[in-house]
Amino acid sequence: MQQVRGTTKILGVMGSPVTHSLSPVMHNAAIAALGVDYIYVPLPVAIADLATAVNGLKAIEAVQGFNLTIPHKQEIIPWLDEISDTARAIGAVNTVKREGDRWIGTNTDIAGFLVPLLKLERNWQNTEALVLGCGGAAKAVVAACAQLGCAVVHVVGRDRAKLECFQQEISTHLNIDLRARDWSDSIDLLGIAGIVINTTPIGMASNPDTPISSTQMQLIPPGAIAYDLVYTPRPTQFLRLAAARGLATIDGLEMLLHQGAIALEFWLGWQAPIEVMHQALLDAIGLK
Ligand code: NAP
Repeated sequence: MQQVRGTTKILGVMGSPVTHSLSPVMHNAAIAALGVDYIYVPLPVAIADLATAVNGLKAIEAVQGFNLTIPHKQEIIPWLDEISDTARAIGAVNTVKREGDRWIGTNTDIAGFLVPLLKLERNWQNTEALVLGCGGAAKAVVAACAQLGCAVVHVVGRDRAKLECFQQEISTHLNIDLRARDWSDSIDLLGIAGIVINTTPIGMASNPDTPISSTQMQLIPPGAIAYDLVYTPRPTQFLRLAAARGLATIDGLEMLLHQGAIALEFWLGWQAPIEVMHQALLDAIGLK
């Protein structure tokens, strides 16, 4: 643990709950490696206290910024002085930075999700994406697919009303061919998908299942990509089945790592020590 002095600046993660967050471990490892005079702390804040907390933190000059996690990514927006176009497009902020007495919000989930994909050579203009789930993370994923230039993005969900709401919100801000379908239609879409992304919690240690069965996996074209936002266990059953099918696989730790690295760079203006942050995450989840 770095030494906390009278000059130390504060970063943190605001959510409810935040006890499970890996961000303090990842960011404090980076802060120690960079040797900068910062500390990153958990900031548990209930929904009803969000405005009080955000305004209160503004009065504490040592607080230079913070991340947002569930349930504050959308609710924070009215309490910020400015938000980036990316954050506005998906109606969610995950990173806030102090500029004088102003809070500036942005969203690093989209860029973080994209980092491992941009390392692959693909013709995204010919790629149809299949996004499983239509919650908060799915919005960042769809925005990322729009940035990649995917030909079509199919989103499947189990709740028709939520799907329609999702489609309406995204279509207002993003120029993308987005097709929202019932979850049961995903079987018809597997055969044309160039990338399948799980944005549901299915597969987490507490929910050890797979959104795509072994039989359904055989319908996905060889050469496609399977991307799971879930990062524990590693690999998830979805990615295990995808690898057995011969698909390229990417797990959620990549997105977690890179959204954090981009947030750190936004706050400090320094290049993030990616390897140090990666190792801190692996240590924290018990994988060396
Ligand atoms: P969320 O807003 O609650 O959305 C979850 C979505 O999954 C909803 O559309 C939900 O549908 C759907 N879903 C849940 N269980 C389902 C089931 N059994 N069958 C079909 N659909 C189901 O959550 P989120 O914030 O988007 O997070 C989703 C997952 O992504 C979590 O596991 C989270 O840890 C992970 N995540 C990872 C990263 C990363 O950096 N790797 C970043 C963000 C999120 P209903 O609305 O009908 O329940």
